Amino acid sequence: MSRGTATRELLTVADALACILEHAKPLSAESVLLADAAGRVLSEPALSSSDLPPFASSAMDGFAVRAADTPGELPITARVVAGRPAPDALAPGAAAAIATGGVVPDGADTVVPLERVVERDGHVSIPDRLQSASHIRPQGGDVRVGEQVVDAGIRLGPAQIGALAASGIGEVHCARRPRVCVLATGTELRAPGDSLEPGEIYESNRPMIAALLARFGAKVELLPVVIDDESAHRAALEQGLEADVLVTSGGVSVGPHDLVRRIEEELGVEERFWGVAVKPGKPLSFGTRAATLVFGLPGNPVSSLVASLVFVAPALLALQGASDAGPVYEHGRTTTALQRNGQRDEFVRAERIATAAGVELAPVTGQESHMIVRAASAGALVHVPRGDGRIEEGELVRYLVLA
Ligand code: AMP
Ligand code: MG
Repeated sequence: MSRGTATRELLTVADALACILEHAKPLSAESVLLADAAGRVLSEPALSSSDLPPFASSAMDGFAVRAADTPGELPITARVVAGRPAPDALAPGAAAAIATGGVVPDGADTVVPLERVVERDGHVSIPDRLQSASHIRPQGGDVRVGEQVVDAGIRLGPAQIGALAASGIGEVHCARRPRVCVLATGTELRAPGDSLEPGEIYESNRPMIAALLARFGAKVELLPVVIDDESAHRAALEQGLEADVLVTSGGVSVGPHDLVRRIEEELGVEERFWGVAVKPGKPLSFGTRAATLVFGLPGNPVSSLVASLVFVAPALLALQGASDAGPVYEHGRTTTALQRNGQRDEFVRAERIATAAGVELAPVTGQESHMIVRAASAGALVHVPRGDGRIEEGELVRYLVLA
């Protein structure tokens, strides 16, 4: 393991992500009640347990008739309401009053809406010649029994949950949610709310990382803050390595108090890379011990934030078997010019402003990696690929949604 980042070739963002995803294999599947399944990823395709609609149903409140009997004045021989079994077959020359969602009786081939008829003395008067098959939802028109409703690898959002419920699926199979231990290193760190002694700062990375990773399905467990001491590191890291994912913050740079990588190596973590051509976040480390993924995020809060979104979040989705682990980029126009960095891809915090012309991205002032409070107004991380020159004001850029 080399100890200096200055002279080594850094991994590109894409190569680092590819390495992480190669090691993020889907976790075992479990059965999940549909009511608890929002945000979960299907581990196998879900097939419809029924035709939808399960029967030919009326799309309108009106009358079910034979088109051939129209125009005309027809006796009303039945009244069909939603939720009742199919009525008797409709006799030729008769009409059945029917509610939206009611079972269309055999024999009827069309429905005429209430607004287009006059009902009087047990008869309905239909002035027009009707087309057959109007206002009838055919059985299985949405999905047939046994057909796929949602594919494996899809993360369930509201539309998928609705589709699964409508298809009669009350329970689905999903990879279990990854258990993620988050620990912070640094003798200088104090809990928010405590008073600060000289040299101390508030610990902000654990709650921030936890908030972000929970959005990607993690079951987060916060481990205590670890002082810059070998035995304290050993005990905490050992505990964290029992999880599916261990995320540490701080202590992965080149200083004498940066102990994380050394102690992890002692504990059997195989380092897969250390150092990515990204700003902020360069000293990111990634390793594995058995199936556990081990991320060492740099301590500067903005570095931790960026690395969590760009590298850890996709790993969580891959562990849950997502077919597209992301990160998912959106597009918008930058309100200011952005200087490119010759060596590293950059992620720039920006306000995300919805305008009639589309999304505008206004970079916040104060882009240094310790300035986490400046990031509070940022809804986006704008990706500035490394290279020469600059991106001009008004140009289309890619960004990741932060909030
Ligand atoms: P390190 O990566 O440990 O060298 O830390 C880099 C900078 O980030 C230092 O100024 C640390 O004080 C700060 N830092 C490290 N961990 C945290 C944390 N959990 N919350 C806030 N700041 C941190
Ligand atoms: Mg430190």
